[in-house]
Amino acid sequence: MMQTEKTFRTTCPYCGVGCGVLATRHDDHSVTIQGDPDHPANYGRLCSKGTALGETFGLEERLLFPEIEGQRCDWERALRRVADRFSQTIAAHGPNSVAFYVSGQILTEDYYVANKLMKGYIGSANIDTNSRLCMASSVAGHKRAFGSDTVPGQYEDLEHADLVILTGSHLAWCHPVLFQRLLAARTTNPALKIVVIDPRRTTTADIADLHLPLAPDSDVALFNGLLRALAQAGKADHSFIRNHTEGLDDCLAEANHYSLDVTHHLTGLSKEALETFFDWFLKTEKTVTLYSQGVNQSERGTDKVNAILNCHLFTGRIGKLGMGPFSATGQPNAMGGREVGGLANQLAAHMELGNPQHRRLVQSFWQSPRLADAPGLKAVDLFKAVAKGDVKALWIMATNPVDSLPDADAVKAALQACPFVVISDVSAQTDSLPFAHVKLPAAAYGEKSGTVTNSERCISRQRSFLPLPGDAKPDWWIISQVAQRMGWKEAFDYPDEAAIFREHAALSAYENHNTRDFDIGALRNLSRTAYDQLAPVIWPCPEKGARKARFFADGHFYTKTGRAKFITTAPLPSLNAAHDPQHPFIFNTGRVRDHWHTMTRTGQSERLSGHYGEPFLEIHPKDAAALDLKDASLTEISSDYGHALLRVLITERQRPGSVFAPLHWSAQYAAQGRIGSVIAPVTDPFSGQPASKMSPVAVKAFAAAWYGFAISVEKPAQPKTSYWALAKTKGGWRMELAEAQTDKQKTRTDGVSLMEQLFGPDTATEETLSYYDQTAQLYRLARFREHRLTAALFLAPAPVAVSRSWACHSLTVDCFSPQDRLHFLAGRPGSNRPDPGQTLCACFDVGINQVLQAIKDGHVHSVEEIGQKIQAGSNCGSCRPELKRLLDANTTIKHLKSVS
Ligand code: SF4
Repeated sequence: MMQTEKTFRTTCPYCGVGCGVLATRHDDHSVTIQGDPDHPANYGRLCSKGTALGETFGLEERLLFPEIEGQRCDWERALRRVADRFSQTIAAHGPNSVAFYVSGQILTEDYYVANKLMKGYIGSANIDTNSRLCMASSVAGHKRAFGSDTVPGQYEDLEHADLVILTGSHLAWCHPVLFQRLLAARTTNPALKIVVIDPRRTTTADIADLHLPLAPDSDVALFNGLLRALAQAGKADHSFIRNHTEGLDDCLAEANHYSLDVTHHLTGLSKEALETFFDWFLKTEKTVTLYSQGVNQSERGTDKVNAILNCHLFTGRIGKLGMGPFSATGQPNAMGGREVGGLANQLAAHMELGNPQHRRLVQSFWQSPRLADAPGLKAVDLFKAVAKGDVKALWIMATNPVDSLPDADAVKAALQACPFVVISDVSAQTDSLPFAHVKLPAAAYGEKSGTVTNSERCISRQRSFLPLPGDAKPDWWIISQVAQRMGWKEAFDYPDEAAIFREHAALSAYENHNTRDFDIGALRNLSRTAYDQLAPVIWPCPEKGARKARFFADGHFYTKTGRAKFITTAPLPSLNAAHDPQHPFIFNTGRVRDHWHTMTRTGQSERLSGHYGEPFLEIHPKDAAALDLKDASLTEISSDYGHALLRVLITERQRPGSVFAPLHWSAQYAAQGRIGSVIAPVTDPFSGQPASKMSPVAVKAFAAAWYGFAISVEKPAQPKTSYWALAKTKGGWRMELAEAQTDKQKTRTDGVSLMEQLFGPDTATEETLSYYDQTAQLYRLARFREHRLTAALFLAPAPVAVSRSWACHSLTVDCFSPQDRLHFLAGRPGSNRPDPGQTLCACFDVGINQVLQAIKDGHVHSVEEIGQKIQAGSNCGSCRPELKRLLDANTTIKHLKSVS
């Protein structure tokens, strides 16, 4: 047999770290994934999500053919329908009656073409992106201070810093490879101090030398207090301020209100902790302040960014190795989207819609018939305009707004009412797709080819290593074909993605003369071969003149005066949950370690679904006690906008008065886990970014008549119960269930009917065994085919007390003896199959009980030894903070026992 095994260099499609990946395609079509040892973002490292990429290439849930009104059709009909409806809508109602809502998941070339079509040919700026939800406040903050959306930092700064401040960043879970680089840096430089600023005590905070659990949204006060402390200690870099900045006096006048007492009062932080933080910042020249969604996703996100930038400008700690502010982006190509102007208030190549010179330049470069002359609608306003009927034709590309936007039920209603919705996607099963009049199958990761830019401005190639399945096509091709059918054949007649990249690079250099930060002119003549072989490159890379080693080291900024601006950041009237007695809790949202966005890809991986198998709500023990919430019971959270049903997770990591839930669960994976429907549509006034970490909510116990847990080899049907949550597991699927309390008690018949609802009636080759404990009201059913378990259902009046990992493992057992069947129905692992417990290490599938056993046996005394003994934590390292916490807690217990 001919060997076709081949390894491709590409880039991870998940977070903004942008790790290099080696994807090896095997003869059996499987793909194995390794970190690329030569990529400057990760030098061979990958996190759990990147490592499990090979498990996510299945075609079962793919959208493979174009559809109009639910009927399969060919590309010509679908493209013609989209082009005609957009053209007719524009002719009847003007350019602003149509819109695109795109995504940080698409490649730079896709983004470039979409932006060119909307702004240069349709003549509207109604193109916005889901990156608005993750980093628009950083963009606005950069532009206010620097005059350009420039991220001055680079990853290597973490390795050269003596103080790293992580603010609003759960780096360990959200940018795990950067976190690993930081941990490695501390091993090399034990003097490196790490400060974590976060209301929650996350696993990132576990490694901090100082954790500052500040009151939600009090970051501006904290950094204003820091600026005052810097000024009082005489830490101003006078030369830098005098020669390269403006606006300090007003900024300092405001900051001077933030005495230690005031800052203590506003942030809730102890004066000792504040003094320590200020002291470390004062004394440490090489300081990096890395910030992320905890800063950006706020009603005052832009001010938070500028409060941070002010402190770095004041000390001149910017643009130099080992120091500076650093925005870590969430999405794989949020930065690429910014470069092509994928936001409604930007032009291409970091140019400004509000700048007539920039508009002239872009229009003359594109030779376009018109150019948008005013900002378009930002994401939240865009969907409000759809709801009002102002936007009548909408094209959504590679994103799922029905889950991810705030006030998500209103988004659903808007799509329902919209006369014409087009969705290009890779998945046939998103919550947004039912509202599409036309569905367009897009090429997925591994099939498409182009470039992405990561958080440190490094442009890397995503290369195709799999054939296009069905009729799937790259996004740039789909957009260009529609544009051609709208009458702009010549402008969108691209032979391939390399031609688009060349045009993008040429525009960045067009009449630039070092007046704009984004310049990749050196790449504008890349041949197809050179494009295919393009190695990762950090911009700028101008065609002529010396390439800058670093932005801002020379004191040159891109404002009109060439000076950086201090921005006065005063408190704004804020949404404050504590003042709303109907909604007394502050609702904070974020990610879990092993899932990505709405799980259309990571939900396919059993390994990644093992860490958290259902949506949950973290709540402090005191709040849980006051509400009579029990661990593992269910809770309902609600706001003025919607509600969700979530599993209760009681933890002291959560701040009293605040609750937290992850954002990943869609209606495909949980009955009522769409937390987007609960989030208030409140946005930052400068950036338009939603304040997704600060919604007022009510929390109450869910009165359940019964709880259930089910496993099966085949995917179960979605039941009609109040609560269910579905996850992949080794050998099949697992599902949590519950029903709201009614007068009716659960009976044996109900169990059988639920079993049939989930798995269908048993077949002639199957045998169903059941167990009923009338006193305890426990009911268990298990279905076997020959010697294998095919499905099981456990019902109880309280949360089902059965080991999930053991039960799921039972699906993979080849030979169930009669004794095993009894053990199974009894819900107890036999001694031959110990329970591994909840998955801690997704890479090697190691459960918490296995780690605890190794600690108990005295075989391991460090995280490294756990890796050597049972592999956990020895690959991607994402679970190392959790291993350390287990080790510390259990070593202490062992020590106390031995002392007593
Ligand atoms: Fe992918 Fe993980 Fe790297 Fe992010 S840190 S790019 S998710 S491997």
